[in-house]
Amino acid sequence: MFRSYRVGTLFGIPLKLDISLLIVLPFFTAVIGAQIDQIVELLDGVIGPTIDTDALSGGLLPWILGLAAALGLFVGVFLHELGHSLVAMRYGYEIDSITLWLLGGLAQFTEQPRQWSHEFLIAIAGPVVSVAVGIVCYIGVLLIPESFDSVLFVLGYLAVLNVFLAVFNMIPAFPLDGGRVLRSILTRSSSFTKATERAVRIGKIFAVALGLLGLLTFNIFLVIIAFFIYMAGSAEGRHTVIASVFEDVRVKEVMTPKDRFQTVSPELPLDEFLNTVMNHRHSGYPVVEGNRVVGIVTMSDFKEVSPDERQKKRVADVMTQDLKTISADESAMEAFTELSRQSVGRLLVTNDRNEVVGLLTRTDLIRAFEILQQRKLQPSSEAIQVPLEQQQR
Ligand SMILES: [Zn+2]
Repeated sequence: MFRSYRVGTLFGIPLKLDISLLIVLPFFTAVIGAQIDQIVELLDGVIGPTIDTDALSGGLLPWILGLAAALGLFVGVFLHELGHSLVAMRYGYEIDSITLWLLGGLAQFTEQPRQWSHEFLIAIAGPVVSVAVGIVCYIGVLLIPESFDSVLFVLGYLAVLNVFLAVFNMIPAFPLDGGRVLRSILTRSSSFTKATERAVRIGKIFAVALGLLGLLTFNIFLVIIAFFIYMAGSAEGRHTVIASVFEDVRVKEVMTPKDRFQTVSPELPLDEFLNTVMNHRHSGYPVVEGNRVVGIVTMSDFKEVSPDERQKKRVADVMTQDLKTISADESAMEAFTELSRQSVGRLLVTNDRNEVVGLLTRTDLIRAFEILQQRKLQPSSEAIQVPLEQQQR
């Protein structure tokens, strides 16, 4: 996604429109408008010969119909996402937002459903809604008099497309709905992580197949979707593995405690600071004045400073004062997310009195991840706690 704007709220769920709709709506309008004849032919085969092509071909009408069908399509996508969201809310999950964008819709949850039946029902709800929307449009086609060719065209198109949308989403290509249904079923006989890994592997095979199909049929849109499925599936798979390894691990268990990290004074001249770096070989240092952390200084903070200036300038002149902190009791996964979101290399760890008790770097997390992953592979899970508690001291 690129940049999205909140346009309203429905059932307490914020609805956002992504800027990429400005590309995809005119694109769909043009594609549909240019293919009225072929679409009518297709609709004749599915809903019967009710539409008169000649009545649709004057002036701007094809493009108006194209726009109406494209907008209708995104309404259908929105209802599909609403289906996922409402079922999720029924099970007590919180929905962050529904976003309409380049490749359709996205309902963002603040947490993953962990119970297989919840995931199954949430995933299947979207396609069920799409089929229902298709049926409603089809009923509209049956009820509307034959002289309303334009309305029949749009409704007929939406009837077919919504059912197609449901079928396409049920392809077991994780993270498509079908892939989530597959994972939920796999979760019944193995762990959530294992099930995710298998669903992602199977999803990648389908994504490659879809991509090849797109290339062979010169369907760029399908190629983009296949690429997206591949990338999003991998990313979510990775995220799930990391989350499961860090499950129940707190920041205080993986941080570098205060007595183990090297601090510097804000008054320290930069050339002396360089010596500190040479001696300790950490990349970042909390800057401490009295008992208070007033900043963080890293190697990259004085990349721009010339060798002459290094003698004149002090740490306080170049340090970062905008400190990113995290509570020692926060989960390690949250710290991981925070480091990625803030795109910083380290977080200051604070206790409930807001005092700095440690430092958490990406390296700390990566090292902890590797240790924990090895430990989790072993049958005894009790072993996990030991090295972490030792680290804490
Ligand atoms: Zn869906």
